[in-house]
Amino acid sequence: MTILETEGLTREYGGVIAVSKVDFQVESGLITGLIGPNGAGKTTLFNNMTGLDTPTAGKVFFNNKDITGYPAHKICRMGIARTFQNIRLFKELSVIENVMIGRHFKTGKDANKGRFLNSLKSYVYLRQEEEEIYEKADSWLDFFDMGSLKNELAKNLPYGHQRELEIARALATEPKLLFLDEPAAGMNPQETDHLMNTIRKIRDLGITIVLIEHDMKLVMNICDTITVLNYGQKLAQGTPMQIKHDPGVIEAYLGKE
Ligand code: ATP
Repeated sequence: MTILETEGLTREYGGVIAVSKVDFQVESGLITGLIGPNGAGKTTLFNNMTGLDTPTAGKVFFNNKDITGYPAHKICRMGIARTFQNIRLFKELSVIENVMIGRHFKTGKDANKGRFLNSLKSYVYLRQEEEEIYEKADSWLDFFDMGSLKNELAKNLPYGHQRELEIARALATEPKLLFLDEPAAGMNPQETDHLMNTIRKIRDLGITIVLIEHDMKLVMNICDTITVLNYGQKLAQGTPMQIKHDPGVIEAYLGKE
């Protein structure tokens, strides 16, 4: 079943066509890789599917619903979460607070709360809710083997943990679909192996994953299907084996082994 789909998605910046008429499909429950040379349009495609940018032309469908042009917070609350190419943590907050923020975003009732804050009833309600948010964040940290680090400041974590903490925060919004933008960037081989297992574990929870990545070992090992972009256009789509042997992809991106 297709969970997300773009039809003829195009994004132009002045004269630059960053993404051109791309039909992209994401199948539910799978790990989909999005690869291609620098500047091929991968992040632009992500931004246009997650509401950080609006397509010049074309459509985005999530569970068959047209979400083109929806703002990022609305898309997130519908069940799509993402991480970014560069780490974006709240570095002066603790590890668990970083995850709790994702959870707060999901519950998202804060805008109405101020009005009721004076009553004792609402105070009790807020405390209960805060405790639930804490518990849930705590269980996500356990999932990432980071339970013992929960009170550390985010900035003091080793690099690989910081990157996984971003994923934990995204998961705290309880997405059905998770977009990861170069999650292994800057990781050493041990950190990349840990990440690979983590991504598989997330998939095993039933969460669909789309992954931009330049680390081909990771991509070829964990992706069920891969789409290749080149100069803003879709160059190929297939299983890792098909992509590895596609002459067009070898020429444009992979090179000969
Ligand atoms: P990388 O692998 O290096 O992250 P990418 O495949 O993610 O590259 P994009 O970042 O999507 O590529 O960029 C695609 C093209 O669009 C590039 O030529 C880039 O310079 C251009 N581009 C992206 N964002 C903008 C913008 N806001 N304004 C102008 N041009 C942009």
